[in-house]
Amino acid sequence: MVPMILLIVIFGLLLGVLINAAASSLPSSRMLQKPHCQACGVPRRPHAWSGLLAWLSPGRDCAYCGTVVPVREPIVELLMISASVILYLTDPQFLHWLLDLATVSIFTLIMIIDLEHRLILHIVSVPAAIYFAVVGSLDSSLGVSRTLIGGLIGFVFFFLLYVLGAFFARWIGRRRGAEIDEVAFGFGDVMLAMVIGLAVGFPGVFGALLRGIILAGVFSFLYMVVMVVRKQYEAFTPIPYGPFLILGALWVYFRGDPAIEAVLGY
Ligand SMILES: [Zn+2]
Repeated sequence: MVPMILLIVIFGLLLGVLINAAASSLPSSRMLQKPHCQACGVPRRPHAWSGLLAWLSPGRDCAYCGTVVPVREPIVELLMISASVILYLTDPQFLHWLLDLATVSIFTLIMIIDLEHRLILHIVSVPAAIYFAVVGSLDSSLGVSRTLIGGLIGFVFFFLLYVLGAFFARWIGRRRGAEIDEVAFGFGDVMLAMVIGLAVGFPGVFGALLRGIILAGVFSFLYMVVMVVRKQYEAFTPIPYGPFLILGALWVYFRGDPAIEAVLGY
């Protein structure tokens, strides 16, 4: 039992390292690169590939320029270790554990890049869509048609919102006599809605996207209140929708799952 749990921890840590490397290199180079200093580009020594180990050792600072490994890295690694352990303890069936962990990893990567760059990259969302289409089609509880219909609904629904948002931005821009370069929904959000639809299938896609939109709405409202109170309010400040959509997706994906029930106690 003890060696097994150690393997589960190490696997979670390695996934965290991989997600960090992808989140740090894909937005700029569209390629997966070995961990390197974000400031000067010098490769990190292998013992400092893990943000967690780097933070726990002198390897936290770049040997060349002294830039510190971003605090996001140890956080993501701890998160993935926790996910790996919780999913294993609540459902030790190997395939369930692996698939659930893959889902958490994919959505974590998309969320980090969206939070840091306001981007949802096709190089991430297209392989993710293919992965969920295959896994959902092979899953007896979803099957081919419910998986693909879920993806189609996510895509079409958000494509309509995307077009509406573009018209709205142009209309506001004309009234103000200036272009609004930020739109509420980017095409990346449309791709993400498709990925979510494929991951949770039909009819789960409705609940997932609705939860995401409501969470984003609640956050926007609270954000607006805070900004009004601080007298810094600006109309049409866009917020990244991706993280909220992902929270909605994980909520539906893990609903009824022993892991989430154990954590949330319902
Ligand atoms: Zn450096």
